[in-house]
Amino acid sequence: MFDALAERLEDAWKKLRGQDKISQSNIQEALKEVRRALISADVNLQVVKGFVAEVEKKALGAEVISGVNPGQQFIKIVYDELVKVMGESNIPLAKASTPPTVILMAGLQGTGKTTATAKLALFLRKEKRTCLMVATDVYRPAAIDQLITLGQQIEVPVFEMGTDADPVEIARLGVEKAKELGVDTVIIDTAGRLQIDQDMMGELARIKATVKPDDTLLVVDAMTGQEAATLTHTFHEQIGITGAILTKLDGDTRGGAALSVRQVSGQPIKFVGVGEKVEALQPFYPERMASRILNMGDVLTLVEKAQEELDLSDVEKMQSKILQAQFDFNDFLKQMRLLKNMGSLGGLLKLIPGMGKLSGSDIAKGETELKRTESMINSMTKEERANPDLLASSPGRRRRIAKGSGHSESDVSNLIKNFTRMRAMMKQMGQGGMPAMPGMPGM
Ligand code: GDP
Repeated sequence: MFDALAERLEDAWKKLRGQDKISQSNIQEALKEVRRALISADVNLQVVKGFVAEVEKKALGAEVISGVNPGQQFIKIVYDELVKVMGESNIPLAKASTPPTVILMAGLQGTGKTTATAKLALFLRKEKRTCLMVATDVYRPAAIDQLITLGQQIEVPVFEMGTDADPVEIARLGVEKAKELGVDTVIIDTAGRLQIDQDMMGELARIKATVKPDDTLLVVDAMTGQEAATLTHTFHEQIGITGAILTKLDGDTRGGAALSVRQVSGQPIKFVGVGEKVEALQPFYPERMASRILNMGDVLTLVEKAQEELDLSDVEKMQSKILQAQFDFNDFLKQMRLLKNMGSLGGLLKLIPGMGKLSGSDIAKGETELKRTESMINSMTKEERANPDLLASSPGRRRRIAKGSGHSESDVSNLIKNFTRMRAMMKQMGQGGMPAMPGMPGM
């Protein structure tokens, strides 16, 4: 995701490497690169303008921090601004003080609205909340069937009245049904059209006025890029949204939509869809998205993902090790094995610093790389795994590992070098800082 944007921003940052101070003159090229990157990622032009101006202002006013080069400082400013534009922190779903919480789903046809309805219901179910889904798309019988099928799959009831009833009435009775069933959340899927039209908006507005939702979520297809800004603007102006779900972020999408939605509507992206399966929904975290855009990988998401697989105490131990930079080769090996067990290697690799650029056939290469790394770690002694610093200072040990694993000494040196950098980066993250090194080639 966002690979092109990440690459371009990396170029911008390279241009500042080797300079010892941010200045009006040396920053112009980098700013141009940021501007180009965002435009080519289909970010709304107004958003780009505001963004670049803000970055320039902050960069020029920034105090020189010792030990940090201007390139690193610049990228930190870009990162902070990206986070700010995308909304600073994750905003959870609304929750009504007296149940049921009503969530209204809006969006064009094909954006993944019906899928997102089921994904949300499953997400809430995992949080031990109960749901009812309501099918109001009377224009497409297939949409109703789709919701029923999804409902059966995730064991969440669906309220529908076929295609002859009035959508507003279905929505109203759906909420009544939710009260009767005593569920705490009712999610109303609505009709989508291929493009915005007044009938659709009018119907949506009437449903909204009738059920008075706690959350009105616009489902936006991330693949639509620049269009996302216009779409968000129209829906927000005519209906009033309280948040968005950005779908299809697993595809070959540009980053533009994520940046535009918040800026255009002032409303947060609450979730992202990352696949066709009902499980493929994640809360939206601006910091993580910014890290991804800047190609710094996403160690936090990785840890969270691991959480689903490991028992909690293990994860807590791992997190605290990461934060205190006590992460050693044993932990690294554990993480790698976990990766292998977690299915989609491709998706996971993107979360590892420096692997953001991998795609398609690269994944096979990634798998080979994991095997190589594993064989090198396997050739380390227990002591060496627990204390990676031993290896940095001993060519003899590195030679032995190279021999034992059938790799070259420089392979082993690279592994240790990269590992050490990764650990330093984790330490910085743990201290609330920004990783200084965006790329981790070969990890
Ligand atoms: P709706 O018309 O807006 O209700 O859209 P659907 O929920 O029927 O989804 C349209 C298509 O997009 C379907 O083929 C879904 O499987 C697919 N889809 C939905 N969400 C995602 C996602 O996050 N990632 C991917 N790759 N496909 C998705």
